[in-house]
Amino acid sequence: MPKFEYAPAPESRAVVSLRESYGLFINGEFSPGVDGRAFKTISPATEEVLAEVTEAGPADVDRAVTAARKAYEHTWSQLPGKERAKYLFRIARIVQEKARELAVLESLDNGKPIRESRDVDIPLVAAHFFYHAGWADKLEYAGYGPAPRALGVAGQVIPWNFPLLMLAWKIAPALACGNTVVLKPAETTPLTALAFAEICQQADLPPGVVNIVTGAGETGRALVTHPGIDKVAFTGSTEVGIQIARACAPSRKKVTLELGGKAANIVFEDAPVDQAVEGIVNGIFFNQGHVCCAGSRLLVQESVYSEVLASLRRRLATLRLGDPLDKNTDVGAINSAAQLAKIRELSEVGEAEGAQRWSPPCELPVKGFWFPPTVFTGVSQAHRIAREEIFGPVLSVLTFRTPAEAVEKANNTPYGLSAGVWTEKGSMILWMASRLRAGVVWANTFNKFDPTSPFGGYKESGYGREGGRHGLEAYFDV
Ligand code: NDP
Repeated sequence: MPKFEYAPAPESRAVVSLRESYGLFINGEFSPGVDGRAFKTISPATEEVLAEVTEAGPADVDRAVTAARKAYEHTWSQLPGKERAKYLFRIARIVQEKARELAVLESLDNGKPIRESRDVDIPLVAAHFFYHAGWADKLEYAGYGPAPRALGVAGQVIPWNFPLLMLAWKIAPALACGNTVVLKPAETTPLTALAFAEICQQADLPPGVVNIVTGAGETGRALVTHPGIDKVAFTGSTEVGIQIARACAPSRKKVTLELGGKAANIVFEDAPVDQAVEGIVNGIFFNQGHVCCAGSRLLVQESVYSEVLASLRRRLATLRLGDPLDKNTDVGAINSAAQLAKIRELSEVGEAEGAQRWSPPCELPVKGFWFPPTVFTGVSQAHRIAREEIFGPVLSVLTFRTPAEAVEKANNTPYGLSAGVWTEKGSMILWMASRLRAGVVWANTFNKFDPTSPFGGYKESGYGREGGRHGLEAYFDV
C-alpha cells in the first residue's frame, strides 16, 4: 500500500478550444460536406460529446483528391527538397509549440492518459516531422537512385490508437519525398487530425498539399478505391487491410499495410525480474493495450514463472486507472463501446476455454468505457486469447523450458509485427532475434519507437516499412 494517497493532478482542459463543428480540410480551407452529413465524436472517458464532425462522401473525397493532384502537379513536385524541408521543419516546431494543447486534445478524444500523450505521442509526432524534414533535401543519398521520383497523391487511412502519431508516420515521409496527401483519420478520433489541418494553415503550407477528410469506413473505402490515388498507406485491422489489398490489386497503386499483431514478450530465467516486469507492464498496459505491437503474449521460462507472476501481480496492484487528464493516471479509457465489447467478449472466451483470469482490485468509473488490467494464466497455444488480437489491457501468460521452445511458441502466430526478449546474455538476444519472425525485436525493453528506425510486419501483420531510410521507399516510384 502507498504511504500517502495521491492528490488529484488534473491537466487543464482550458488549453484546448474546441469548435462546435468541423468541416473537411480541402485545398487549404475548411468546407462543409457536399451532402451535409455529420457525426459526433465523444470522450470515451465520460461519453460527453466533444464536437460534431463532417462525414465525407465520395464527392468530397473526389474534391480532396483533385486538390491534392493539382497541388502535386503545380506546386509541391516543383519545389526543391530544401524548400519542402522548410515547411516540414515549420510544422515540427508548431507541433512543439502546441504540444500541451495537442496532448490534452488527444487524451480527450482517445481516452489515453495525459502522461502518455504528453510524453510519448506528441514528442514523437514532432520528432517524425523533424526527422523527415532532414531527409527532404538529401533524398539522392537515401539509396533509391540519384533522383528518386515521388509517386503523386497518397491516400492514407489511419486508426484510433495513436491518432496524431499515425498521421505523422504517414504525412511526414509522404511530404518529404514530394507527394501530396489525402488522409482519413478514424471515426472515433478525428480531432487532432483537424487540429493538424490548422497547423498546416499556420505553417502556410500550399493549399492542397495536405487534405483531411473525416468519416467512417465508407469514407476510407471511397479514398483507397479512388482512381486518382497513386499510393495507399493503411494502418488498422488485418480484416480491412485484406479488403484494401483486394480492392487495389487490379490498379497500379503502391500499397503499404500496417496491420495487427500478437507479439511475444519472452522472459528468460537470467533476466532482471524487476526490469522485465516493468517491460511486461509497458508492453501490454501502455495505451490500454490498444497497440498493434503490444506484448500481449508473455512467455516466461518455467523456472522463474512463480517469481515473475508474483512480482507482476504486485506491480499491477499499483497501477492507477481513471481520468485520462489526471497526470497520475496509468491506464485510461477504452476507446469506444465497440472496442470494449470486443475485449469483454474475448476475455469471456478465455475463461470459458479454461484459462484463469485475474485483475488487481480496481474501481471502474461509472460513465465511459473501462476495462481493468487483466492477466490470464494457464493459457495454451490453442486458446483464442493466445491467437487473436484482443487490442485491450489483457495479457495471456504461457511458459517455456528451452530457447528453442520459446522461438517455436513465439512464431506460432499468423502475425509477425514485434517481439521482446529479456535476458542478460547478448549472445542469446542475437540468437533469438535471428529466429523470431517479427519486424521489430526489442531487447530488454519494449514499445520503444524512434523515427529513424523502420517499423512494419511479416505475414498477416502487413507489408512495407514506416520510418527510417527504409520507410522512404513507400513514397518513391521505385
Ligand atoms: P479498422 O481496420 O476497421 O479501422 C482502421 C481505419 O480504416 C479507420 O480509419 C477506419 O475507419 C478505416 N476503414 C474501415 N473500413 C474501411 C474500408 N473498407 N476501407 C478503407 N478504410 C476503412 O479497425 P477498427 O477500428 O475497426 O478496429 C478493429 C480491430 O482492428 C481492433 O480491435 C484491432 O484488433 C485492430 N486494429 C489494429 C490497429 C493497428 O495499429 N494495427 C489499429 C486499430 C485497430 P473508421 O474508424 O471510421 O471505421
